[in-house]
Amino acid sequence: MTSSTTYLITGANRGIGLGLTAALLLRANTTVIATIRTLTTSTSDLTTLPIAPNSRLVIIPFTLSLSSPSAVSESLLSTLAENKITKIDTLILNAGLGSSFFPTLQTTLASLLEHFESNTLLPIAFFQTLYPLLSTPSKLILISSSLGSIKDMEGATPTLAYGVSKAGANYFVRKVHFEHAGVVALAVHPGWVKTANGQNFADSIGVAEPPMTLEQSVNGVLAQIDGATKETTSGSFVSFDGSTVEW
Ligand code: NDP
Repeated sequence: MTSSTTYLITGANRGIGLGLTAALLLRANTTVIATIRTLTTSTSDLTTLPIAPNSRLVIIPFTLSLSSPSAVSESLLSTLAENKITKIDTLILNAGLGSSFFPTLQTTLASLLEHFESNTLLPIAFFQTLYPLLSTPSKLILISSSLGSIKDMEGATPTLAYGVSKAGANYFVRKVHFEHAGVVALAVHPGWVKTANGQNFADSIGVAEPPMTLEQSVNGVLAQIDGATKETTSGSFVSFDGSTVEW
């Protein structure tokens, strides 16, 4: 029997997460665990995706709880066990928030906290919870953003909450690269893509729409995921086209 490659993708119900899920399900012998925010999240787009022979889709809710983090972690692990998931080869930390784009003086602490929860703490919580299931070697892929680059900061664009939360997540990814020899850890900028998140940023800077299609982004991101190894891109920050993004 051919063994199955298992991916877990967060934020899989829409946007880039849905696109990655759709593309991976077209590969044979592939299990995709698609996590969604809550049981009430609409999964109709997910449940109608075509699935290749011997592949399967498992949909699981996971909401970060700062008050009882171990309870949600245990719930995720027990749901994976119920679905006979015993290992994860690639963890794609895609879920993220880009809901309000303001300059420093107009950015509220509430907005900073909200972006930190979704963009920094949620990826770390997933890695901590799922580490015991990660295969060796495994891949940890953060869908990051060039707006989190400190060196290549794009002038005075109004990105404090989003940018600082992505920069924090980038730090985590590079830290995992050095801490875990068996984990290929990579931050990937998916391009500026026509999704709700991408459109929010376009609106904030007065641009009609993001330049890239979902398909262009998904193809590029998957090429970076497939090609990542400990010796090559692990511990780095790359764009969907393989070019380096400065931290
Ligand atoms: P969308 O707004 O289309 O989708 C965001 C996804 O993240 C949704 O599934 C959403 O769930 C989920 N999510 C957000 N916060 C949480 C949370 N706290 N808990 C659980 N799920 C959460 O955006 P994109 O597809 O564009 O974004 C995907 C990733 O790509 C993000 O990390 C984003 O920062 C990054 N990115 C996107 C760019 C773009 O141009 N589109 C550019 C650079 C980076 P729900 O439906 O429940 O809200």
